[in-house]
Amino acid sequence: MKNVKDLDVKGLTVLVRCDFNVPFIDGKISDDNRIVAALPTIKELIKKGAKVVLMSHLGKIDYKKTPEEIEKAKKKNNLAPVAVRLGELLNQEVFFCPAVRGEELAKAVKGLKEGEVLLVQNTRYDKGESKNDPELSKEWASLCDAFVMDAFGSAHRAHASTYGVPEILNKEGKQTAIGYLVEKEVVSLKRAVEVPSEGRPYVAILGGFKVSDKIKVINSLVKKCDKVIIGGAMAYTFLKALGKNIGASPCELDQLDYAREMYETGKILLPVDVKVANDFDNPTDVKVVSVDEIPEGYEGMDIGDKTIELYCSEIAKAHTVFWNGPMGVFEKEQFVDGTIAVCKACAELKDAFTVIGGGDSASAVKKFGYKDRFSHVSTGGGASLEMIENDGHLPGIDVIG
Ligand code: ADP
Ligand code: MG
Repeated sequence: MKNVKDLDVKGLTVLVRCDFNVPFIDGKISDDNRIVAALPTIKELIKKGAKVVLMSHLGKIDYKKTPEEIEKAKKKNNLAPVAVRLGELLNQEVFFCPAVRGEELAKAVKGLKEGEVLLVQNTRYDKGESKNDPELSKEWASLCDAFVMDAFGSAHRAHASTYGVPEILNKEGKQTAIGYLVEKEVVSLKRAVEVPSEGRPYVAILGGFKVSDKIKVINSLVKKCDKVIIGGAMAYTFLKALGKNIGASPCELDQLDYAREMYETGKILLPVDVKVANDFDNPTDVKVVSVDEIPEGYEGMDIGDKTIELYCSEIAKAHTVFWNGPMGVFEKEQFVDGTIAVCKACAELKDAFTVIGGGDSASAVKKFGYKDRFSHVSTGGGASLEMIENDGHLPGIDVIG
C-alpha cells in the first residue's frame, strides 16, 4: 500500500481525510490528542509542497430529526475551533472553509498556494457523507489531485470522504495513499489480528458500555484468543444468561442466547464478584457482593476484588493483550479499582504486546498514568475492534491503491 511519503505531489492539491473528532467541553477542545496525531502526515505534505485540504467529521448529525434539531447539532459540531488549534500546532495559518460543497468550497481550494493548509467544515454537514452519496464523492474528488487516508477512527465506515473519494481517484489513475497515523495503527493492530505461537497466550479484555456494538466481536475473539475477559456493563448480560439475578444492572435481553453460546466455548472469563450500588447517579450504598448475591434494585458498577485477582493472574500469563472498554464506571472515584488493576497488570507485563482500543479506555489509561506503558494506544475504538473482527481489513484502508 502506498504511503504519504511515497507521493509525488509538489504543486498538487491533496485531500487528507483526518480524524478530528475531538471532545469539547463548554465549546473548547478538551483533548487535542487526535489533532496532534495528524501532524506528521500534514507536515510531510507541506514539506512536499502540496496544497493541503483537510476533511473530518465531528460528532453525529441525525438527519431524521427536525430542521431545528439538525441546525442545533450542526452548531454543536462545528469544526472551526480545530482550524485554530491546528494552526497553533503547525505554527502557520490554517484556513477554514465553512461550506462543505459548492462554489465557496471550490474557490477556497483553488485559492491555496503550495504548502498552505485548508480545513473544510465537518463532512457530516452534508447528509450525503454518511450514505457515501456518489454525487458528493464526485464533487469532492473533482477538487483534488490525490488523496491520503489518515483517519483510522473512521476507516471502518465506507462514507463519501473515507471511501467514495479514493474509489473515484483510483479509477482516474490518481494517487491515493495512507498517512503515518493509519500506517502505525495498521502495523500495531495486525499484531493483535494474527498472533503467532510466541505471542501466546493472547488475552482479550472487553468492557465498557456499548454492549450491542461490541458483543458481536466476541465471536471472532474467541476464535483468535486464548482467553476473553469480560468486565463493564457487558458482564451482566452474560451473568443473566447463566441464570444469575443481576438486580438493576444493564442487560441486553435479546443477546442472552448468543451470550450463552459464547460462554460455552470455554474461553470466556466472567466476574465472580462485583461492586454494586443502590443508585447510579447518587450511590449511597456501595458494596462488593458475589455474583450469586446481587441485591434487588442494585446495579453492578465495577468488578469485585476476587474478580480483580482472577483477571490479573490471567493477564500476567499473557504475551499479547487487546483491551477495549473499562471494567467499571471509572469516571466515578468509587468504581475505579477494576480498571486501575487491569491497567497495572498490563503495564507490568514483560515481553508482551499490549494494545488499547477505545476512546474511554484510552482516556482511562491516560488518567491513571499508564498510557506510556502500553505498546500501542489506538485512536480508533470501533475501527480497532472491526479490524480484529475482519482479520485486518477495513473498507477505508482496503480502498487505498
Ligand atoms: P470505549 O470508549 O473504550 O470503547 P465504551 O464507550 O464502550 O468504551 O464504554 C465506556 C463507558 O462504559 C464508561 O463511560 C464507563 O462509565 C461505562 N461503564 C463501564 N462499566 C459500566 C457498568 N458496569 N455500568 C455502566 N456503565 C459502565
Ligand atoms: Mg466510548
